[in-house]
Amino acid sequence: SHMRPTDAAGTTITVANFKGGVAKTTTAVTLAQGMSMRGHRVLLLDLDPQGSATTLFGVLPDAEVEQEHTALPLFSGAEEDLSYAIRPSYWPGIDIVCAAPLLFGAEFALPARQTRDAGFEFWRCLDRGLDQARSDYDVIVIDTPPALSYVTINALMAADGVLMPLPPSALDFASSAQFWDLFSDLCNQLILSRGQDKTFEFIDVLLSRVESADAASSVVRQWVMQGYGDKVLPIEIPKTAVAATASAEFGTVFDLPRGAMNAKTFSRARDAYDRMCELIEQQVQAVWAG
Ligand code: ADP
Ligand code: MG
Repeated sequence: SHMRPTDAAGTTITVANFKGGVAKTTTAVTLAQGMSMRGHRVLLLDLDPQGSATTLFGVLPDAEVEQEHTALPLFSGAEEDLSYAIRPSYWPGIDIVCAAPLLFGAEFALPARQTRDAGFEFWRCLDRGLDQARSDYDVIVIDTPPALSYVTINALMAADGVLMPLPPSALDFASSAQFWDLFSDLCNQLILSRGQDKTFEFIDVLLSRVESADAASSVVRQWVMQGYGDKVLPIEIPKTAVAATASAEFGTVFDLPRGAMNAKTFSRARDAYDRMCELIEQQVQAVWAG
């Protein structure tokens, strides 16, 4: 009963927070793998010019990524549908659209198109470009740059659900509040003024890189609960050497062989990500069930 109806649109999940280093990329890549392990057809879309997700999927942004492997031609208007850029990844069942520093050109291309053509809605460029992918994939995971850039706005506008990783530190909490304020201001200016609305099927806040023994983090955790309430997923991703090691080996906790490290730490990290994927899968299935 929870199967995705074959004619339904693939569900898009955008991982965003305008801070860097909050585990956006780690979360996006791990979620993509977890959803694939659960039997879903997954597209991972890397929209950060730093190309970290691309790197974690075994492609080197500097050496191996050409413009046509990225979303740049879509944003610049050379292409209307993102299908041209989709390639298989090393992980069976996950296709990717890569990123590289050249993708930063989208930050010039989008406002330039808007200036030339007042009818162009720069914030809907990606949403429109995902039409084909939505029928080819069950889940589309988008990794975004640490900025509320033109590209990030596109990624949020294309999203059915948003996942915001948030380490329980005071500065990260403060900046996450700014992020939402800015984004809702933008929505009001761009969208509501045209009589349209943007709603999300779900918004999740994920406590990431949590050091359990840290007293400061438990104070901030209370602020997060007060600020975001039931949007906070009932799971914490622990800060572990396992997660760091996985990225050093260009993968995630799902790539590491069991027994590769301290067994207890390994299970703690892997179980937390597993549970995160399970919780998000439930929300996606609720969308499919209508
Ligand atoms: P962002 O995409 O928000 O900049 P990343 O996913 O690149 O963040 O993570 C930033 C750094 O933190 C990376 O070096 C990553 O390996 C590390 N990291 C992420 N999650 C964890 C974790 N749970 N435990 C330890 N290190 C982590
Ligand atoms: Mg990143």
